[in-house]
Amino acid sequence: MSNTADVIIIGGGVQGASLAFHLSRRGTKVIVLEKSFIAAGATGRSSGLVRMHYDTEVESRLAWLAFQYFRNWKELVGGECGFTRTGFIQLVGGKHLEALKANVAMHQQIGIPALLVTGEDVQRLSPQMRTDDIEVAAYEPESGYAMPSDTANALMTAARNLGARLVQNCAVTGLNLTGGKVTGVESSQGSFSAAVVVNAAGAWAGNLNKMAGLDIPYTTWRHDTMFVLRPGVIGSSHPSVIDFENQIYFRPEGALTLVGLEDGNPMGESPDNDTEHAKRGFVERAIERICLRMPVMEQGALHSAHGGYDGITDDQRPILGAAGPDGFYLDCGYSGTGFKTAPATGLCMAELILDGRASSVDISTLSPDRFAEGKLIKGNYDNIWS
Ligand SMILES: Cc1cc2nc3c(=O)[nH]c(=O)nc-3n(C[C@H](O)[C@H](O)[C@H](O)COP(=O)(O)OP(=O)(O)OC[C@H]3O[C@@H](n4cnc5c(N)ncnc54)[C@H](O)[C@@H]3O)c2cc1C
Repeated sequence: MSNTADVIIIGGGVQGASLAFHLSRRGTKVIVLEKSFIAAGATGRSSGLVRMHYDTEVESRLAWLAFQYFRNWKELVGGECGFTRTGFIQLVGGKHLEALKANVAMHQQIGIPALLVTGEDVQRLSPQMRTDDIEVAAYEPESGYAMPSDTANALMTAARNLGARLVQNCAVTGLNLTGGKVTGVESSQGSFSAAVVVNAAGAWAGNLNKMAGLDIPYTTWRHDTMFVLRPGVIGSSHPSVIDFENQIYFRPEGALTLVGLEDGNPMGESPDNDTEHAKRGFVERAIERICLRMPVMEQGALHSAHGGYDGITDDQRPILGAAGPDGFYLDCGYSGTGFKTAPATGLCMAELILDGRASSVDISTLSPDRFAEGKLIKGNYDNIWS
């Protein structure tokens, strides 16, 4: 098999798979090099929330475009992404109320089905939730969650059906450059050649940026999640929720409820650390928090807990664009929220690489230059994850 392509993508997470899919649809010859297996990184651990509630227009537009894929997956990609509609509720405290309202107005202008609801509305949507502290919440009736590993595998399968090559157990160890231009990579399985190399290596992307001589602030973000067997009184499902006040999010998964915490996520650790187990103390904190919002969860039973690592940037937004040697692109730094946007970011990155500009969504504010230019992105909220 040929080791030469038009584009080499480093990383077989949902981002690498999405980019491979969109490039292949345009007739581009793609090789994806993955050091382990598809979805071995953040993607395989992702909570899979699919919502449009972001506090910047560019991310909301990306999430809305990606949503068209999630809800029409079979026609647009093929295979399964496991999208399940639960409705999504964003809860914020008083400090963020005005930002919440501004976000919903912005979402509505984009065309996203989003509305403001009262505490009583939330109570009707999820009778077991404590709502006495809720004045106004944002509600997205169409949103929910999808299965991240299935999503990445479906995108990669579609890309391969269109001619892309996937090489697993293949760690990229160096970049090959000639006269300031990328010519390919060195790997644990030898040399691969292409005039374009894309860094989609998630939490490991900082190492590859360094290989390209880039000095872009980039570190890792650890995130643990817990699954609880729901008490029967909650019923067969409940909405997906992000709750700023309690720094928690949760969503159903069959008879279980998945819980993640927005705070206490360590930064700067090696992404090769143990992810099979959650960190000490996480489960106790997560149980305490979920019971604050859903007191009946006291009757739940712990099912399991584990962790994962994503790459994180200084403004907690992804880095999308060319940087360093000619032909080197960054598609990384998703900062804990990059699953739901993947079908759209892959499309935009394919447009940027092939046409010189992303036409589906203007992603220019996410360019790598923003760090050197001091143009870090600021949303209406401080930070949100998941
Ligand atoms: C626990 C957790 C929960 C999350 N929940 C949500 C959520 O609910 N909703 C949401 O939208 N986002 C969520 N996220 C974020 C989202 O999962 C990530 O942003 C997204 O999966 C990133 O995809 P990726 O392809 O960039 O990275 P990854 O999935 O990490 O893929 C990168 C790949 O690169 C490979 N690689 C690394 N170095 C090399 C190398 N040198 N050579 C070859 N291959 C290499 C790795 O093995 C890995 O497979 C969550 C993240 C975590 C960790």
